[in-house]
Amino acid sequence: MKTITTESCCSDENEQGTLSVQQALANMLGAIDEVTACEQIQLADAVDRILAEPITSPINVPAHRNSAVDGYAIMQADLAEENELSSLKVIAQVVAGHPYKGVLNKGEAIQIMTGAQMPELADTVIMQEHIERDGDTIRFDSRHSVGQNVRQAGEDIQQGQTVLSAGIKLTPPQIGLIASLGQFEVRVKARLSAAVFSTGDEILNIGEAPRKGCIYDSNRYSLIAALTKLGCKTLDMGIIPDDPKKLKEAFQLASQSADVIFTSGGVSVGEADYTKQILKETGDINFWKVAIKPGRPIAFGSLNGSTFFGLPGNPVAVMVTFYQFALPCLQKLMGLRKPLISPTIEVKCHHAIRKIAGRSEYQRGILSLQTDGTWLVSTTGQQGSGILRSMSEANAFIILPHERCSVEAGEYVTVQPFAGLF
Ligand code: AMP
Ligand code: MG
Repeated sequence: MKTITTESCCSDENEQGTLSVQQALANMLGAIDEVTACEQIQLADAVDRILAEPITSPINVPAHRNSAVDGYAIMQADLAEENELSSLKVIAQVVAGHPYKGVLNKGEAIQIMTGAQMPELADTVIMQEHIERDGDTIRFDSRHSVGQNVRQAGEDIQQGQTVLSAGIKLTPPQIGLIASLGQFEVRVKARLSAAVFSTGDEILNIGEAPRKGCIYDSNRYSLIAALTKLGCKTLDMGIIPDDPKKLKEAFQLASQSADVIFTSGGVSVGEADYTKQILKETGDINFWKVAIKPGRPIAFGSLNGSTFFGLPGNPVAVMVTFYQFALPCLQKLMGLRKPLISPTIEVKCHHAIRKIAGRSEYQRGILSLQTDGTWLVSTTGQQGSGILRSMSEANAFIILPHERCSVEAGEYVTVQPFAGLF
């Protein structure tokens, strides 16, 4: 973890200052580096893993010239002249995996199946549908050109070519591409380990009997689920009561066991001051007020070399700050060289939304396709940061940028579909 030098970011002296979303994220990204451990794994297990080394092809793909269709392999000299027919004798049939051992001579054709190696001296394939066959003789007209329907050796990938660069998240077609080189193992970045705990005397474990004044812990579960989807190894550290000694132990243990630590709650102004005190004693943590709704108080920094995210307590604020701040940071820590961008689109808003300029808002929206083929977004209703249902019913964030004021019904707003995020 590098020291965070950005002017407006650090601890108590600057606590009056509020960071924009962009500043807060830039500070976070500037403070972290990818975690370097790598491992060798089976290609079959590598989807969604991050490639640690570039992939260079040891072979040409395809390895040999082959037919792209079912048809007849011929040589250029036997193509028909304009307005004439060419008539050739079929001397053999070749199928994929069984190359023809003889040589093709002028006046001859070899019936060939898709993927079969081209016979020596054959350079063109006439599709089965374009010939007339009579016994061993085929006839075809002049509308064919030299080289047609032939896949050249190395036309997809050349021997020695770098086909995938390090730092990408492997997709199904990329797994197929590596397999096409005959490679059965890949070197990938080790999974990031993430410790998660909740804080607060009022937080109950699921399964416990309800208690007056208490609420069930939802943050730990939504965070563990989100981290699991991202491919992290998660360490569930339970609920830590508002007790300085227990919190200190939890912070120590988490920093010894994980690359990243997530807590929720306990970072807002007015929280028992010892949480901040302990974090300050244990690590290099910044307490930021971010101009974001929901969200606002966020603690970020390093605890004994682990990256620490102290997210707000309110369940929706947890999700918003996770996806807007932690996700890009996790991608960098995991070794992704270019962040995976979740696209945003401009969509008409069904109704008015009240907003004041000076903070970014992430309202929960339902994006729907209209009968006229256009998209429309509406909010999920009540937008309180404790109303997790607003998140679970939504399929997109409605992003209202820092400077934007209220939205009139029918105005365009920026929407980030969850499909690109989770
Ligand atoms: P805090 O920042 O600790 O004051 O928490 C803000 C709000 O979030 C309070 O209403 C908490 O009860 C609630 N909260 C904190 N942690 C959790 C949790 N793990 N699950 C659900 N709600 C929580
Ligand atoms: Mg609390």
